[in-house]
Amino acid sequence: MEDIQGRKIDYLRISLTDKCNLNCEYCMPKGICNEKVTMKMELEEINEIIKAFADLGINKIRFTGGEPLIVEGIEEIIRSTSKIKGIEDISITTNGINLAEKIEALKEVGITRINVSMDTLQEDKYEQITGKTGLSKVKNGIIKAMNLGVTPVKLNVVMMKEINMSEMSDFINLTRSYDVDVRFIELMPIGAGIKLFKDNFISANDVIKEHPELIRLGHQKASTAELFKVKDGKGRIGFITPLSCKFCNECNRVRLTSEGKIKPCLHSEEEYDILEYARQAVKAQGREEYFNSHQILKLKIEKIIYNKPAEHTLVEDGRSKSHRAMFQIGG
Ligand code: SAM
Ligand code: SF4
Repeated sequence: MEDIQGRKIDYLRISLTDKCNLNCEYCMPKGICNEKVTMKMELEEINEIIKAFADLGINKIRFTGGEPLIVEGIEEIIRSTSKIKGIEDISITTNGINLAEKIEALKEVGITRINVSMDTLQEDKYEQITGKTGLSKVKNGIIKAMNLGVTPVKLNVVMMKEINMSEMSDFINLTRSYDVDVRFIELMPIGAGIKLFKDNFISANDVIKEHPELIRLGHQKASTAELFKVKDGKGRIGFITPLSCKFCNECNRVRLTSEGKIKPCLHSEEEYDILEYARQAVKAQGREEYFNSHQILKLKIEKIIYNKPAEHTLVEDGRSKSHRAMFQIGG
């Protein structure tokens, strides 16, 4: 469906849990990291919500978190999503720690694409950024995904001036030999990222200037990335620039938090609880009232999507207006 600005909204990102097995310093406040997974939404409620979104023209779903691969039954969630009429593409954003052990099953139940967050290629720095060891597990997961043909794997790399900028060439060089898309993301002043922002923000343009080997491919519609490649490279390099060049006029997505609240814009304060309506629809399943309950849920969602904010004001405000951090909303 179209929103009030005439943008086609066809993409939903769902945060399944706000729990995570890592403690990335730009995302999760120290000490909050907690592997004990709790989920507020039940499988049937998630299904009901996705059905309503699909009726409104959403055809792409991305599962995220927190960490989606610590959610028990993730395979079942994906399997049932793949059966919903209208859903054509199911992807996942993960920190990759559990990827090697899960990727085969994930592929089998319908995952078509994965994004793996990996901000460094060095084990000691990995521990500094995430508070945990485990980089080799992430690398194994990526290799296994590529061997299984889940390609191209996208690698999310948050650019932090004082932390990982010295590794930019190493990441770019990965695309010479592997069919991977490296996505450099501008650090955003949201949640724990606010503290790091002043000393660590670096704009995509400043990085691009330092790498004359990057050949510009341009910008694909509805992709948030400006794309590049290196000569004879197998993969591509993308820059996601929420600050230096915002892409709000092409935004095609809305988000569902792990608490069952729709966030029509990542950086706005607006959020709308729809979980109760989903619960009513689940309760009514198999009964005459179901049609009505489903319609109510759908109408609520339709109104929220229609009124999606025109744009964020990250640069003007110096920080996100969102009351929630990235690990609660999903990236
Ligand atoms: N745990 C999974 C992961 O790390 O891929 C999924 C959730 S995580 C919140 C999703 C994405 O948000 C990750 O790629 C992460 O690097 C990114 N992210 C988190 N905080 C950020 C910030 N302050 N600025 C830019 N990206 C951020
Ligand atoms: Fe966890 Fe992902 Fe946030 Fe890192 S970026 S703390 S892996 S939710």
